[in-house]
Amino acid sequence: TELYGVREWGAGFFGISPSGDLQVTAEPGNFSGAVSIPEILAGIQDRGLDMPVLLRIENILDTQISLLNDSFQTAMESLAFKGSYLGAYPIKVNQQQQVVEAVTRHGKKYHHGLEAGSKAELIAAMGMLRDTEAVLVCNGYKDEEFIDLGLHATQLGFKCVLVIEMPGELPLIIERAKALGVDPILGVRVKLSAQANGMWAESGGDRSIFGLNAAQIIEVIDALKDAGMLDCLQLLHYHLGSQIPNIREIRNAVAEASRVYAGLVGEGAGMRYLDLGGGLAVDYDGTQTNFMSSRNYSVDEYCVDVVEGVMTVLDEQNVPHPTIITESGRALVAYYSMLLFNVLDAARFEPEPLPDKLPENTNIHILHLHDAMQSLNLRNVQECFNDILYYRDEVRQAFAQGKLSFRERALGDSVFWETIHRIARLAKDMPTLPQELEGITEALSDIYYCNFSVFQSLPDSWAIGQLFPIMPVHRLNEMPTREGLLADITCDCDGKIDRFIDSQGVKRTMPLHELKDNEEYCLGAFLVGAYQETLGDLHNLLGDTNIVTIRIRENGEFDFVGELEGDSVEDILSYVEYDTKALLNRFRETAENAVRSGQITPTQRRKILQAYKDGLQGYTYFER
Ligand code: PLP
Repeated sequence: TELYGVREWGAGFFGISPSGDLQVTAEPGNFSGAVSIPEILAGIQDRGLDMPVLLRIENILDTQISLLNDSFQTAMESLAFKGSYLGAYPIKVNQQQQVVEAVTRHGKKYHHGLEAGSKAELIAAMGMLRDTEAVLVCNGYKDEEFIDLGLHATQLGFKCVLVIEMPGELPLIIERAKALGVDPILGVRVKLSAQANGMWAESGGDRSIFGLNAAQIIEVIDALKDAGMLDCLQLLHYHLGSQIPNIREIRNAVAEASRVYAGLVGEGAGMRYLDLGGGLAVDYDGTQTNFMSSRNYSVDEYCVDVVEGVMTVLDEQNVPHPTIITESGRALVAYYSMLLFNVLDAARFEPEPLPDKLPENTNIHILHLHDAMQSLNLRNVQECFNDILYYRDEVRQAFAQGKLSFRERALGDSVFWETIHRIARLAKDMPTLPQELEGITEALSDIYYCNFSVFQSLPDSWAIGQLFPIMPVHRLNEMPTREGLLADITCDCDGKIDRFIDSQGVKRTMPLHELKDNEEYCLGAFLVGAYQETLGDLHNLLGDTNIVTIRIRENGEFDFVGELEGDSVEDILSYVEYDTKALLNRFRETAENAVRSGQITPTQRRKILQAYKDGLQGYTYFER
């Protein structure tokens, strides 16, 4: 457990069984009803689905929705807050129908609503949401069609809020509301001056792309007053950015926004809702710090601080308590999905064994390399390192000038790498390492080739250096003896993971078990439910993975409740506009030409065509 930090990042959902399997439970900390992940994997494979597979545990999402709503409820009761709380799940965080369906189903008892940031998201939300007590918040840039759809939602009784994000949106909203005879529920998005640090934090602050500054909000108020619609302005919205690791920044923003809210009440607007947007962070690395991939607060603390922050400002100004809305996405869905994938092979950076005695007439530079290796001790590590780099370059030059054979050069390389390994072993015992030698162990680590695409399944890992917990799902009662980084099956040099969670922040390799013949070694990347699925792309034409959803029963058994087959090669080719029927016909002709010219027989042609057709139907990932 210690090695992979499960207890730290797992939020009570993950544990290790006595037999060394990774377990998952939907009830944090209660492992009497936990399920073994290898057992789930076996069930998936028995059903004919291959890895990589995205596994969703439906009731982890339920737990997270309850956690957020119950925490706000408890905070409000304990502080005697007189308003209420409503959640609005932002569809952009994971738009898959199964996910939105699960949010609306379990969220119904809390009237947990939805947030839409585009027309397509609004159309999805209007089809999915049945609960008219819940809010439907419309953010994003809005054209006439978007506005009309929102107004129709209001006509149907939804609490659909059109949030004004740009100064230019208001005249059109007023015009369309009058044309359709609807009293809209309006919101304004404010640009706060409170700034947050964090990888995704640029959507907050004075320079944020969206939102209105104070003067623009006053213009909105005046325009609404002129139109006799000031009572329609009911919501104040802001969004500081996603994954805000530091609670102090959240508190500063709440305080500033509460002042703006009170100002709007003072102006006579019909204020009822204060919407804090997203930002509630996930502790991906389990450090509970204000590192980018962590957070220095709990969900309970977040709720208490938000409620208290709002009350402090509003009570001072005798403003009635609002309904607090948050648009938490990441915190609701991150835990609920994991990517499971198999290791295909491993490369080791180990030198070839050296001969007992160097051949006669060995080149002088190789002899020098060999002498440096033999003189290595704890006191001359840096000197030896300098020497071998120098003689390695001499060997390379001699080869380039034709003075060394290829075989001799290989001997030079082997002496060089053997010395590097000896230096790395000594470095482990050195209290301080010369700067040049930092990272020498990592440079010698293994590469484990894994059956997935970083670009498709963990795009944030590639694009913004986001850390996800990654670990084996079995053999956890066995000490791993290797250290390695992970490479995916795209042939891109960025298709790798070489940053892993660590109690100190980040490390460049992870502990891994030795591969065994005839036994699959499977790893999981965890907390991948937020943002990764639709941000993923088709690099190297590797498509959507298989997706399986299970629900864990109280007695520790589980049911398969959903299964989506990943993309076939044919699907992927059609996404990039190939006509696969035409492709097959062209290939038939190519094969016929080969028959005509006597290169293959008609029977061989039949087999080749069959392989081509099977390939079109097949999974885009490595199949055993
Ligand atoms: N609301 C808005 C307007 C957003 O842009 C986002 C995402 O950045 C969110 C909510 C969700 O944020 P989070 O996933 O941090 O909860």
